[in-house]
Formats: sequence, structure tokens, C-alpha cells
Amino acid sequence: MEGKDLTTIKNIKDDCVVTFLATVKARTQVRVWSRNKSTGKIMTGILMDRSGSIDFVCWTEGAMKFDGILKENLTYKFIKAKSVFAKENYSKTKHCCQIILDKNSEIEEVESEPLVSPIDITPIAELASKENQQKVTVVGKVLAIPQAERLGSTGVDIVKVRIQDNSGTIQLSLMGNEIKNCNFSINDVLLLENAELRIYGMLRCLQGSTGIRTVNPSDRDYTQYMPGPDSPNIDLSPGKNAPKEKTVITLNKDEGRQKIHCSVLETNLRECTYERCPKVSCRSRVVCLSNGLYRCNKCESDYFVATTGVRLILHISQEKNNEKKIVMFNDMAEQFTEKSAAQLLVLEEVDILSLEKALMSNQYKFTLSPAKSNSEFLCESFVVQKGQESFGKETTSHIQV
Ligand SMILES: [Zn+2]
Repeated sequence: MEGKDLTTIKNIKDDCVVTFLATVKARTQVRVWSRNKSTGKIMTGILMDRSGSIDFVCWTEGAMKFDGILKENLTYKFIKAKSVFAKENYSKTKHCCQIILDKNSEIEEVESEPLVSPIDITPIAELASKENQQKVTVVGKVLAIPQAERLGSTGVDIVKVRIQDNSGTIQLSLMGNEIKNCNFSINDVLLLENAELRIYGMLRCLQGSTGIRTVNPSDRDYTQYMPGPDSPNIDLSPGKNAPKEKTVITLNKDEGRQKIHCSVLETNLRECTYERCPKVSCRSRVVCLSNGLYRCNKCESDYFVATTGVRLILHISQEKNNEKKIVMFNDMAEQFTEKSAAQLLVLEEVDILSLEKALMSNQYKFTLSPAKSNSEFLCESFVVQKGQESFGKETTSHIQV
């Protein structure tokens, strides 16, 4: 294909040379990459016209050629641009291919208002039936902006913002630099463009939006999504059940040892390890002193080293005022997660997410005995039934054995 005729973004197929008009919606600075012994430059961004949006990438020569020219919100004629297949999961836009601007491509600035594609907003409640990593555009009112939390050993901070529209509520996860760039407050209305829906077992949240901006709620495009007093209380946020799911756990403290058949809704994988006394007969939690030694209050001794203990908590119900948690220690927690204590200590966020997903997709039979805390039960043994879908299916109900 020669690509002399003007096309539109919606009509771009992969493996073509195309010419089209588009506005630069967003672009990065030119960055240097290196892998093994190769190195180069890259600039990426998003182009938009009245039919849709598409990612673009400029590798080394293209990046140098267009760095000084391409400016956000200006409209250009892109000539002899290449389109290549892009896996949707990795694409920031919904488009299945991306544009490569290389040394053979040309651009001409065009006098025009920025081209804007129609906004395709998905109601939050509909996210219950969407697939993992699907790109969606959502509008929602900010209900809460909690303090940042540290994600395990990764050093990455996360802020779990809660947003609501007239159909439901979901968590928006902001991580790392996104936190610095967020300047909105409670009750602001946010438009999240091309946010990614992430599913971790029963948990659904939004992350990785290409643009988070506050919008005017009385604007014609958004007013129909604004939550009112009668808005349904469907909450897709982590820690909450999906719509129409009811988790009933019939466990009784007074009944002693019990068996239960259930799935896991939430874990404490990010903080399940602790430093414990190196003495095998003790194994109590130790505290690190300012001189670097570990104090065991049980042995009343200080040690040069501590070992890693595991205290894994599995949330199995989220009924209001009737939370149930299963606690397992050390060897059992290692068996359950199929990871050693040392591995659990240094889990990267990406490993935590996939491990959590795996654990949550199984069904388990637990033998439990009451623990100190009223909501906690100590795991004595477990049986795994792998691979059952746990979202929105019958298998999430809990049957007492
Ligand atoms: Zn000790």
C-alpha cells in the first residue's frame, strides 16, 4: 500500500504505510534504552483524530528527527507512517496496531483545532463483566483519597483512590510517579482515559490511565454518569465482593476444629514475613535495635542475625462486622504459596500480583481451629482444588463441610 490517500485512525490496519491527519494527544521525552550490548533512543505517545486514538513509537532515528517538531495538542499531517501490529494488552489505546514514525516518515503541521474523538465511557458496574487488562474510559467522582501505602519490599507507593459513578464504585490505583502527578481532591469528578482494568481474583481495580483529568460534572458528556442519592451500591473495589456475590461463612469459635470449603478473597502477601529469633526452640518475633542487633524478648537475648518467619493471612469473607481470616505460619505458609520464606521476603510486586491471582483462583478445603483473635482461625491443614474460576461463578459460594 502506497499510503498517499488520507485515511483515519479507525481505518488503519496493521502492516501498511499510511497518511493521515491527527493531533498529538500526549508524547514522552526522548529516552535512552539499552539491552545487552545494544542501545538506542525511543519516544512514544498517542495520536488522535475524530475517529479514535492510536499509539505511536519513534525509534532512534525517528526520535531524533521528530523530537523537536512534535508538540502536544498540535495537529499534523503524518505522511508515510508505518502501522505495525501491537498486542492490545501492551497498547495504551484500544487500537490493535501502532504507528511507527521513522526516518522515511514526514510530518507537516496543519492549522486546526485539536481533533478529538468521541468519548466512549463505560459505566463502572459494567466493569464486572470485562476482562483483565481491558482498556476502558471511566468517569467517576472521588470518594476517598487515602494515605499512600508501601507495596511490600518494592519501595513503590500506592494510593488507592475510590471513585463512584451512578452505577457503582471502584478503586483507582495510583503508583509511583502517578501519585505526584495527581492533583485532585475529594468530590472532584475524574475522567480516566484508557485506564486498564486489573483483576486479581475477586478484586477489580483501574490503573495505568493515559490521562487522568478533572472534568466539569455539569458538562453534557458527564452529567448522566454522576452518582446520585439513589445510585446502586455495587462496589468493585478490592476487599469487596463483586455484584450479587454473597460470601457466607459459617464458622463458629465455640465449635473447636472445623472444616470449610472456600476460596481466598485477599491475602497479606506484601507483609507476610517478619524477623524471628534464630533459636530453633524459640522462633519468637524479634525487634531490630539501633545497634543492628536483634532483641528477642522471650529469650531475653540479643542476636547478630534473625531468621525470616512467615505469618500468612487469608481473608475468606467480607461480611460486614463478621470478617473471617485464616492464619498460617512458616512451613504451612511456604507449602501453601509454594514459595520459601526467603522468596516471600523479596517478592516483587509483579510476582505478588501473579501469586495472589493463582491463590485466589483455587478452591480449598481447610481444617481450622479457633485462634486468639475472634475473627481468626488457625489453619491445621489444607487441600487445593486448582484452576476453578472464582469470579462471578457458583464456586465462590461457601459450603460448610
Ligand atoms: Zn528467642
